[in-house]
Parts: sequence; C-alpha cells; structure tokens
Amino acid sequence: MMSSVNKAALYPGSFDPITNGHLDIIQRALQIFDFLIIGVAANPEKHTLFTDSERMAMLAEAVDGLDRIEVTSFTGLTTAFAKERGVRAIIRGLRMVSDFEFEFQMALMNHKLMPEADTVFLMPSERYTYLSSSLIKDIARHQGQIDCFVPSNVSKALKGKFARK
Ligand code: ADP
Repeated sequence: MMSSVNKAALYPGSFDPITNGHLDIIQRALQIFDFLIIGVAANPEKHTLFTDSERMAMLAEAVDGLDRIEVTSFTGLTTAFAKERGVRAIIRGLRMVSDFEFEFQMALMNHKLMPEADTVFLMPSERYTYLSSSLIKDIARHQGQIDCFVPSNVSKALKGKFARK
C-alpha cells in the first residue's frame, strides 16, 4: 500500500569542507527520502579548519538549487537532534572497509540511544571512494590541484586559506 507519510532523513557530519563525495551521498539520499536535513556538527572539541558558519555557508552554496533540503548546524548528540526534528533515519556514507568499524559502532550506539531510528548507509560512486575532507585539506595545504574533488566555492575557500604569504 502506498504511504503518504513524508519521509525525512538527517545527514550529519563535520563537512570540513564539503566535497563531491558528500554531494554524491546527498543526491542518493534525495532519491530515497522526501526531505533531507543536512546537519553541520558544531563540536567545540573537534578541531576544524573552517568555522561552523564557514562550513554551513559553503555547504549551503554547494547545494543551492537542490530542492527538499535544509542545511542547519547542531550541537550535541546526533540522536538528540534527530529526536528534536522527528527524524528516524540517519544517513552516513561508507567508502571503504576502513570506514566500517567506526560507522558500525556509531550506528549501534545511536540505535541504543534512539531505538526508533536507524542508520542508513549509502555508498558513493566509485570515483569518490578515496575522497575525504582531510585528504583534500592536505593536498590544498601543499598547493596541489583540488578542483575536481570539491565544488568551486570550496576550492576557492581552500586556496584562500592556504595562499602563500
Ligand atoms: P564526520 O566527522 O561526522 O565523520 P565527515 O564530514 O567527515 O564528518 O563525514 C560525514 C559522513 O559523510 C560520514 O558518514 C562519511 O563517511 C561520509 N563521507 C565523507 N566523505 C565521503 C565520500 N567521499 N564518499 C562517501 N561518503 C563520504
């Protein structure tokens, strides 16, 4: 039977900065869910290259033009935020086997904290499986070519951060 209930999902992450791999996951999630909340985690203990508002603004610009999306930041537990927003699906990306251990542990713990929610793992296109925000930052730091891995606004921001003085 067809259900008319709108299904929303939460995609939480640091997005420091957003890459084409994240965008691939976002597009896949939109094919399954009716609405996607992208939650930029503001975690004072986690050192990030870009500030909370920079990460939010870059992400918002990168997904500008896509419908059925809300970009917002949140603090504290992902499950607390999911509960607050009434969302029962948490999206995470799985690139390689190396992601699995950490993601599996997080998914099980989140399920313990919020039994009504499930983590939905999505795999990106093969060409993004080796892409990570930290690798991109390393390449940019050493003046390497990053244009094909990140949206153009992010590329500009990274070049600005690491411009030779
Ligand atoms: P976090 O600090 O929460 O891991 P990230 O921004 O690094 O934040 O990642 C958020 C989610 O996006 C994670 O589930 C991660 O596995 C996934 N992700 C990151 N890069 C990629 C990529 N290239 N392809 C698919 N998923 C990715």
